[in-house]
Amino acid sequence: ISTSLSVGRILTNLENSCATPLPVLRHVADAMAEDMRAGLAVDGGSYLKMILSFVNTLPTGNEEGLFYALDLGGTNFRVLRVQLGGKDKRVIDTEFEQVSIPQELMFRTSEELFDFIASGLARFVQKESGKFSPARGRKREIGFTFSFPVKQTSIDSGILIKWTKGFAVSGAAGRDVVACLNEAMERQGLDMRVSALVNDTVGTLAGARYWDDDVMVAVILGTGTNACYVERTDAIPKLNGHASSSGMTIINTEWGAFSNGLPLTEFDKEMDVASINPGEQIFEKTISGMYLGEIVRRVLLKMAEAGSLFGDPVPEKLFTPFSLRTPDLCAMQKDSSGNLEAVGSILNNTVGVRSSLTARRVVLEVCDTIVKRGGRLAGAGIVGILQKMDNDSRGLVFGKRTVVAMDGGLYEHYPQYRRYIQDAVNELLGDEVSSNVIIEHSKDGSGIGAALLAAANSKYA
Ligand code: ADP
Repeated sequence: ISTSLSVGRILTNLENSCATPLPVLRHVADAMAEDMRAGLAVDGGSYLKMILSFVNTLPTGNEEGLFYALDLGGTNFRVLRVQLGGKDKRVIDTEFEQVSIPQELMFRTSEELFDFIASGLARFVQKESGKFSPARGRKREIGFTFSFPVKQTSIDSGILIKWTKGFAVSGAAGRDVVACLNEAMERQGLDMRVSALVNDTVGTLAGARYWDDDVMVAVILGTGTNACYVERTDAIPKLNGHASSSGMTIINTEWGAFSNGLPLTEFDKEMDVASINPGEQIFEKTISGMYLGEIVRRVLLKMAEAGSLFGDPVPEKLFTPFSLRTPDLCAMQKDSSGNLEAVGSILNNTVGVRSSLTARRVVLEVCDTIVKRGGRLAGAGIVGILQKMDNDSRGLVFGKRTVVAMDGGLYEHYPQYRRYIQDAVNELLGDEVSSNVIIEHSKDGSGIGAALLAAANSKYA
């Protein structure tokens, strides 16, 4: 590629500082395992919170009956019911609905928000047809997936630490979100029991585990990122001997906060400083969907200003944060035409630039560099978790088939990213061990996972 001297120099510098050769991957995997141990030792012992999920019983496939799930994690909430038929019949029937939350409710009181959710749920329950059979003399049970930071206090209670993702609801922080939901259901005259409060990664793990006993880890790669895994209670010093009867529990790592030894650039640092949570969630800012497009935009802006990549003057839109989004990178990388027509029109539509063929090639190089770093670091993180589990169990993980359940829009839709995760896992573990590690897409497992956890933790069991 022939480009101006400074564009070439910026690209080379970028590639060098984003490089993830084996020693870097190994350092990240080792550091992830170390930080996990520190977080399990004492609360606050690590960047990784290693939150106890209180999920000590995983679905086995034997669950029977009608269960509901409610998923609140963003601008939509989803409700679902499932009729479970035990080992042979499995999922007999399932129905779900999605309701978008009116923008204005994100700025009102928590009562108003929970009333809106409870009334949607009540309407959904009313539509229950004869295909579903609630157990006589029992309340309907529901699993509640709530993807905001919660201090879990039991399987069916947890204190909201703070709203995130643009929610500015008043009055729920510091309160038990299950109590908030229960009170709203009562106001709606809806008689249900919340049997499990779960984080979305935990729901994904449970949903995948229902079909496959070898699922040990779940990872979400969407707008943000998180991971959870099955841990032995005797490997959790901060439990102070409060072992569960099953001897296991799911740990929600909150791995987005990891930051040890990541190959970062000036662009990452500037994006972090400009973010609403500077200094926090550095792993998330390097690997997740919300940020990959923005990092690329920042690189392109520098190339435009210092090296006239798109001619003069630099268009206004290229200065606008988040004008280039991760799905745009993905769409550009799909373009296999000779003159990169699609790359040109995406660049024009998103950041308002007109581009030469040479410039389009540079843009694709930048996308690949950032996506490659993200995918490979996510892969190293996964290996870190598996390595921690394997060391503690003296070879019980790598010596047998182990499944990592993946979900989230970034993982689902970005084939190059997915490939880079797998490459890093293969490089770190070698052919023999990595053939035992199955990284598998578990689509929308978290909804049904919450219903399964309500079943596994039924009040009537
Ligand atoms: P969320 O994480 O917001 O709950 P999802 O798991 O559906 O929801 O993930 C949505 C994210 O996935 C988007 O913010 C975007 O970063 C990423 N994404 C969605 N579609 C694509 C795509 N076609 N290519 C790459 N990334 C995508």
